[in-house]
Amino acid sequence: MRTFDCSCGETLFFDNTRCMSCGADAGFCPVCQKLVPLVGSDEAGLRCGNTACGAALVKCNNYRYERVCNRCVVLPADGEPAEPLCSCCRYNAVIPDLSKEDNRNKWRRLEAAKRRLFYQLDLLGLPRGTEADGFDPPLSFEFKEDPVPLWSGQTYDNNELLNGQEVVMTGHLNGKITINLREADPVERERLRVHFGERHRSLIGHFRHEMAHYYWDLLIKGRREPAFAAVFGDPDAPSYSDALQAYYQRGPSPHWAQHFASAYASMHPWEDFAETFAAYLEMVAILDTAHHMGMLGPLDLLIEPGVDHDRMVTAYAYVGTALNELNRTMGLRDVLTRPLTKPVVEKMRFVHDLIEAVRAPASAE
Ligand SMILES: [Zn+2]
Ligand SMILES: [Zn+2]
Ligand SMILES: [Zn+2]
Ligand SMILES: [Zn+2]
Repeated sequence: MRTFDCSCGETLFFDNTRCMSCGADAGFCPVCQKLVPLVGSDEAGLRCGNTACGAALVKCNNYRYERVCNRCVVLPADGEPAEPLCSCCRYNAVIPDLSKEDNRNKWRRLEAAKRRLFYQLDLLGLPRGTEADGFDPPLSFEFKEDPVPLWSGQTYDNNELLNGQEVVMTGHLNGKITINLREADPVERERLRVHFGERHRSLIGHFRHEMAHYYWDLLIKGRREPAFAAVFGDPDAPSYSDALQAYYQRGPSPHWAQHFASAYASMHPWEDFAETFAAYLEMVAILDTAHHMGMLGPLDLLIEPGVDHDRMVTAYAYVGTALNELNRTMGLRDVLTRPLTKPVVEKMRFVHDLIEAVRAPASAE
């Protein structure tokens, strides 16, 4: 992630809705693709505060009225925008019930993670899967609660009924990404992380993983399945449901750490792909941020088209060591909990080559 400049000279950050120095409203301008100070007012009209841009803007409805977004949409000269939601919010099919306490905070956290996901997909030139662009199935998001609230700390491993009701499973199906709202509660998420023995559990991590399942449908199914099977294994033997059952009965493959990005990745080739894809996006996000923070010294930006995968992995190991040591000084968990093994690097190379093959030409930025 990069940082941005306010007209007062202060730094603006991707999540800001206000400049911490001059107090100007801030928002993401879809024209210049920057987090900018907003000039004017909601009532009289807003302009992008980047003087090279100056686009007429209006805040996304989820920014102006719901306070869960910080993006703007372009205001056409002849009146209201056709779509009052920004290019991240318009994918929402189900939003949380805002009459319930704390749900707005949970929704805000989910949207913040989703915006980061989209920023990264745009950076890599990956398709966003809109219906208008002819993507089938189109992408959408559902943020849902269990019908009967679980008691704190209660966990479920599988598609189970709890208290006689079906639980909301975080997952992807036919373009629809569902996130259980409980994941947006930091205490519950940490309990789940410990229960599942995961190194990290985060909202952005969920989005990266589920988006990978969507891309499998969009980019691999019926197009690159033999190449996929050569790297990740045959997804039909065993079937997904058999593999799922076996995983929750017997646990992960004993040698998972050598061959997989995570224990869960050893469950089935589709989960292996999703975990590997998410691990690749983590690497890209960290390299992007490290570059913009000046941590990579004279090294180029390591995410532009045509970049060598091995160079990325080497730089990632270097930055990861620094990140881990910084975290340890603060008593926090490691960011990179173990070195990337050769089999994992090779699977990440498949993701790298896939993205190289499908990415749109880089924008002017
Ligand atoms: Zn300012
Ligand atoms: Zn602008
Ligand atoms: Zn929005
Ligand atoms: Zn999955």
